[in-house]
Amino acid sequence: MFRRVLVLNSGSSSLKYQLIEPDSGTSLADGIVEQIGEPSSGVADHGAALQVAFEKLCDQGIDLNACGLAAVGHRVVHGGPVFYRPTVIDDAVIAELEQVSVLAPLHNPPALQGIEVARAMLSSVPHVAVFDTAFFHDLPAAAATYAIDRELAKKWHIRRYGFHGTSHRYVSQQAAAFLYQPWEKLNQIVLHLGNGASASAIAGGRPVDTSMGLTPLEGLVMGTRSGDIDAGIVSYLHREAEMSVDDIESMLNHRSGLLGLAGERDFRRLHQMIESGDSSARLAYDVFIHRLRKYIGGYLAILGRTDAISFTAGVGENAATVRLDALSGLEGLGIEIDERRNAASGKGARRISTEASAIAVLVVPTNEELAIARDCMRAIKA
Ligand code: ADP
Repeated sequence: MFRRVLVLNSGSSSLKYQLIEPDSGTSLADGIVEQIGEPSSGVADHGAALQVAFEKLCDQGIDLNACGLAAVGHRVVHGGPVFYRPTVIDDAVIAELEQVSVLAPLHNPPALQGIEVARAMLSSVPHVAVFDTAFFHDLPAAAATYAIDRELAKKWHIRRYGFHGTSHRYVSQQAAAFLYQPWEKLNQIVLHLGNGASASAIAGGRPVDTSMGLTPLEGLVMGTRSGDIDAGIVSYLHREAEMSVDDIESMLNHRSGLLGLAGERDFRRLHQMIESGDSSARLAYDVFIHRLRKYIGGYLAILGRTDAISFTAGVGENAATVRLDALSGLEGLGIEIDERRNAASGKGARRISTEASAIAVLVVPTNEELAIARDCMRAIKA
């Protein structure tokens, strides 16, 4: 039976892969090939990386040509104005994806490379692109629109697209299932806190706001990205510090956020630095939490009634201190964290609020690969 999906997530220097049975939700194998393009790794490009992945799967006894593969699913960060449904890839789609790449020069080109080599190496199965922006395609105009020159924005397709959509949708559905409530009836806030971080407000299964914008740079403070800044900083640095636009973009994406403030982007090590009295680590953490609380407060106001707040991704799922600091002192707004539940570790979805808390606060592990695999099956059946 052809019921398995290979999910590929091609980043600029890494390739993550996972073989999944979407019906049962079982992951049969997964792995990551890193340091692509670095001379020391011996993995020259995405083609070589995919070859390494195939060999690793082979070592585990999995032959991709004879394992019942139904499709290959590719995570693509930016769908631009064109793509918001899982899309079966053909040459015309590739051509359009290349045009969309200008909106996401840091993210889409590696995905396109991954798609091209995978299509060549696994040519007998359909390949499907699943977009990080898709879930937020229907953001209300008030949330999607930047208050800038309207004609210019229209001409250059400038709007708030939102990212991590696969995770926000999946986690909000899992939260609804955990609460035995229909997704369509709940008002939710999802906090996806990983290296990249974003928040969303979802009303009755429809997104009403999210923190990332035209690119994944906007919003929360992240591992290496600044999140929200005054756009005036860009022109000021360009004029006075004589930095090029590319340098500024690179600084904001790769040398800002926790890394820029504390020299460390990993939350585990940041916590250790704080414990040893490092004041820049403390400041980085405080800025991160301040921004997060600002978004939570904003989304509570936008939703009016909130039923659930879910934490997900590496930091959200594991850092109990972050969860507590994000929501402490909000009893007046119906949020009451149970510190013992919050501190306990666990695997699946779990509640960390008290029984009396009007808003349920949950930890919900994300699983973007499974969501992509399921989207793929739907796309090839359609
Ligand atoms: P991404 O998929 O965006 O690369 P992840 O969702 O894997 O990121 O999250 C990575 C982040 O999660 C890192 O900052 C890491 O320090 C943090 N993290 C992972 N485990 C823990 C933990 N036990 N406690 C605190 N932070 C953690």
